[in-house]
Amino acid sequence: MPLSNRILYVDLTEGTSKVVERPELFQKYIGGAGVASKLLLDEAPAKIDPFSPDAPIIIAGSPLTTVLPCIVKAVAMFKSPLTGNLGETHAAGYFPSALSLAGYSALVIKGASVEPVALVINDSDVKIRKASSLWGLSPLQVEQALGSFGDDGLHSVISCGAAGENFVHYSNVVVDRYHHFGRMGLGAIFGSKRLKAISVNGAEGVALTNPLTIKDYYEKVYQNIVGTDLMVKYHDYGTPANILSLNEMGALPTENFRKTRFEDAEKISGETIAENRLERKISCASCPIACVHLADVKDEFSPPHERGRRELFKESRLVPYNYEPMYALGSNLKVSDYDGLLRLIAVCEELGLDVMTAGNILGWATEAFEKGLIGEGETGGLKPVWGDSATYVEMLRRISSARRSPFYSALARGLDSAADKYGGKDFAVSLGGIGPAGYMTGYGSIAGTVVGARHSHLSNSGYSYDEGNLGKEFDAEKIAAYLVEQEDWLYIIYSLGVCYFARKVYDKTMVSKMLAAIGIEHTPESLGELGREISHNLLKYKFQEGFRMDSIRIPKRLLEPETPWGRLDEGKLKQIIAAYIRKREKEGVKIKSEDVALKDLLSIR
Ligand code: SF4
Repeated sequence: MPLSNRILYVDLTEGTSKVVERPELFQKYIGGAGVASKLLLDEAPAKIDPFSPDAPIIIAGSPLTTVLPCIVKAVAMFKSPLTGNLGETHAAGYFPSALSLAGYSALVIKGASVEPVALVINDSDVKIRKASSLWGLSPLQVEQALGSFGDDGLHSVISCGAAGENFVHYSNVVVDRYHHFGRMGLGAIFGSKRLKAISVNGAEGVALTNPLTIKDYYEKVYQNIVGTDLMVKYHDYGTPANILSLNEMGALPTENFRKTRFEDAEKISGETIAENRLERKISCASCPIACVHLADVKDEFSPPHERGRRELFKESRLVPYNYEPMYALGSNLKVSDYDGLLRLIAVCEELGLDVMTAGNILGWATEAFEKGLIGEGETGGLKPVWGDSATYVEMLRRISSARRSPFYSALARGLDSAADKYGGKDFAVSLGGIGPAGYMTGYGSIAGTVVGARHSHLSNSGYSYDEGNLGKEFDAEKIAAYLVEQEDWLYIIYSLGVCYFARKVYDKTMVSKMLAAIGIEHTPESLGELGREISHNLLKYKFQEGFRMDSIRIPKRLLEPETPWGRLDEGKLKQIIAAYIRKREKEGVKIKSEDVALKDLLSIR
């Protein structure tokens, strides 16, 4: 099998590119998170400033991208400006497939251009093109402008918005209009390199030496996906259905995590939006599920225009919505009209902002304003109050602007930075420096986010533990064991490029056989070892950059509301974190230090 093992290195300072073949790297680490974590350790200088030209952007796909259903994600790793540590974010759309069809398994981008540029990849033709005319445009406008760059083949465009250009530490990179490298501030790293966009056209194809074996797997997996009810929920209402189910469970973050039930949940639920605004459902390449729900958002023209005919003339745009933006910009801000919520999501799409962290920051700002920690002097005359989506839209624009006041500059640096300057740390809801996902399900969710390499609910599915063990006795060791086991297996899933939603479709035995069909030898046991090694590599990187498990702040606010496991107890959360550290240490990770605080934490049982 001519397994692609080609890495495209791009130097934006020199304006050059080269291809390096690394068969041994892909044989061992498969692709995605495995390859990206190794490249990050090798390519990123220790303690580098995230905005230094020498700080690399690494994006790795999978050897099975586009070949099997739902194997479609690429993993980006970089030094995050938001957390000052590991940046890891995943995306699909068409980008990983186009990259693979162009003949590349990974990208390493270093350097910085003086002028705005776009990296344009047309199979083996790689160009760094001037892109001053794209600077300032929204990702959608960039995609439209670059749409004609490809020839035949699969075409994809990814770009940052104004938030990335202006160094907002939680700006994202939008992929093919409706998908995202959403978290940890990759948009600002693009901005720091003056890299506005990457356009990829792949027409080379993927050669298979065992096409019939792969075809058998394809059919089995496809049937499992479309012929059973395993994935039905993702297509029907999709993750937006979580608004009502989590509300019922008492786990829906509301009013900056003060409560876990929202009285107006019904008004912004997935079901309500589907009934009134759902326009289409779309898929990533090679996925038969189509979980990406698009709503029609209509904006009126400015007041002086279309007088008397305002009902007739409205600008229409499609906006992707899923559970996370709906909780972060909806229940968490008490926005109870779905059009207001969709407009907030739309403005994040236009500016290129991580919706979750943006929602958490607006939640903190509203409460800080309510408590008098900030006033109109700071906000520039705006009065953030719960539910006022129009004011929130204006605040997001000011955060993303090139000319912002000291207050909006602090908000642009992230929640911890704003709370350091203005106070209100107790209700500044971030974990590991980043706004958490919307699962106040219990101990697994919060502890899992704390210990997860990228501080995400997708690091180790801690929320699933809470939901699956409701009513059982609290057991710190058991929760820690679950988090370790899930994290290690998910890093195999993420090295293969499998979408998280389809993680249950692929098991260890099947993965081992699929890899054998493309010439990668891994037994189910060695896959287990590899998952552990990837987790360890990420911890190694994080410790190298100064991360300390005991220094993570658990905001008091997260201990206040009722959850399905009752009010969360800080001591019990620390028991889980200590048990997790002990497990990793037993595996050989060097976590212990002479620091008293860490010793104290480890003594908790
Ligand atoms: S399930 Fe959704 S996010 Fe995952 S690959 Fe399919 S369309 Fe994309």
